[in-house]
Amino acid sequence: MTFSTRKKLFLSHFLAIVLVSGSIGSYFYNSAIESLLGSLQTRLKYSAALLSNAVTPADLDQILTPADKTKPAYQSGIARLRELVASNPDIAFIYVTRRDGAQIKFVLDSDPDDPAQPGEVYLVDAPALLAGFEAPSCDRELIHDKWGTFMSGYAPIRGSNGRYAIGIDMRADEVERKLNALRRTGAFSLVLSVLMALLFGHLLSRSFLRRIDALHARCLEVSQSGGSSTVTGGDELDQLTVTFNDMMRELRQSQAELEQRVERRTAELQDANRQLQAEISERERMAKLLEQTARTDFLTKLINRRAMAQSLQTEVARLERANSESGRVEAASGTFSMVLVDIDHFKNINDQFGHDIGDEVLKALARAFEASVREQDIVARWGGEEFLILLPNTGQADAVEQAERLRQLLDSDKLRIDRYPHRVTASFGVSEYSKGQSVESMLKQADVALYQAKAQGRNQVRAISS
Ligand code: GH3
Ligand code: MG
Ligand code: MG
Repeated sequence: MTFSTRKKLFLSHFLAIVLVSGSIGSYFYNSAIESLLGSLQTRLKYSAALLSNAVTPADLDQILTPADKTKPAYQSGIARLRELVASNPDIAFIYVTRRDGAQIKFVLDSDPDDPAQPGEVYLVDAPALLAGFEAPSCDRELIHDKWGTFMSGYAPIRGSNGRYAIGIDMRADEVERKLNALRRTGAFSLVLSVLMALLFGHLLSRSFLRRIDALHARCLEVSQSGGSSTVTGGDELDQLTVTFNDMMRELRQSQAELEQRVERRTAELQDANRQLQAEISERERMAKLLEQTARTDFLTKLINRRAMAQSLQTEVARLERANSESGRVEAASGTFSMVLVDIDHFKNINDQFGHDIGDEVLKALARAFEASVREQDIVARWGGEEFLILLPNTGQADAVEQAERLRQLLDSDKLRIDRYPHRVTASFGVSEYSKGQSVESMLKQADVALYQAKAQGRNQVRAISS
């Protein structure tokens, strides 16, 4: 059998409240009874002690049998006891007993209706009476009989050496009434505390359960299955546990799915990134190729006119910068020269051997120039059958010398051209940069020098300096 959590909580709270209030109640109940009985007992012991000299042992020694009732000792003793009873309405009976070996026997009894006879054995086993022969004592509990409720106190008769004891039966109806009132109050507060425990147990368990219910509802909300697993025979906490586990499982599942999605997405992104990188490098390669193509002459593979023009501008700018920094142009390092080359009678080669052979001649010359100049020199195809050579850090004299070497190379048997059996000559115009001069002006000078070379019979080098 399983209890719902609501019942468990209710029961535990109920029992706890009942236990606490019961313990407190019974403590106060017991201490009230103890103090009531205690004060009665003290009163009894004092009263008994007080009356212990009401009669004398010498008189008592004369009273042994019912026949002794006629003796003045008996008569005066009884009278004395009855007088004492009459003087105190709380006292019901007073009697005197004698210890005779193991037996206790009556000597005097104040009861006017049915008195115990002298010598009559006291049959009731009374430990308090026995103790009363030695010192004042009293009963531990109330005695109920047809005459009412009593408690007895005892004390040894003074001077009797423990042979005689006086007993007092004191009425305890008032005490009994108080005890009854106490019992009623106790019972009432017990019922009240049970009712309170019921109420508080209910309220407390409800407030606890409200939170558990709220938690359960939240878990159900988070778990999308809507509580797929059902628990049979479990309480609210079992249901909460199951729902919580459901929720955790779903969370783990969705986390795993999320991780998978992220992984997939990352892989896709990496893929796309790789493709993009490949595309970028391809584009860069193409751009470089394009740039190179834009700078290169298709036939001779030399740089073309456009690229050479840029190089010339760069060189002029470099020198101008150096000039403005140092304030002067140094002879060797602060200048450059250019050599314009035009093939002699190239038209004839084309005409006689065909355009293809003309192309071969152009390519052969391009290779020859490239192979002959220094590493820092730049050779370009300037026009149809014209070449331009840029010689950095070179003055006019050195440039003329270099041009002359090239001229001789052509005009010798060293240069061999496929399918073209004759020598090819060219004319060379040289110009050197001078401070503040423009590229156009230098080109013009080189052109003029070339024109002079042509005019003076071709296959020669001419130079013009500003
Ligand atoms: P000159 O000694 O005065 O320079 O005589 P020339 O025949 O070289 O003079 P011109 O400048 O009149 O002729 C140049 C010729 O070069 C004209 C043109 O057909 C030819 N030519 C220009 N570009 C090419 C080319 O790419 N390939 C070939 N095969 N011929 C070209
Ligand atoms: Mg020409
Ligand atoms: Mg020519």
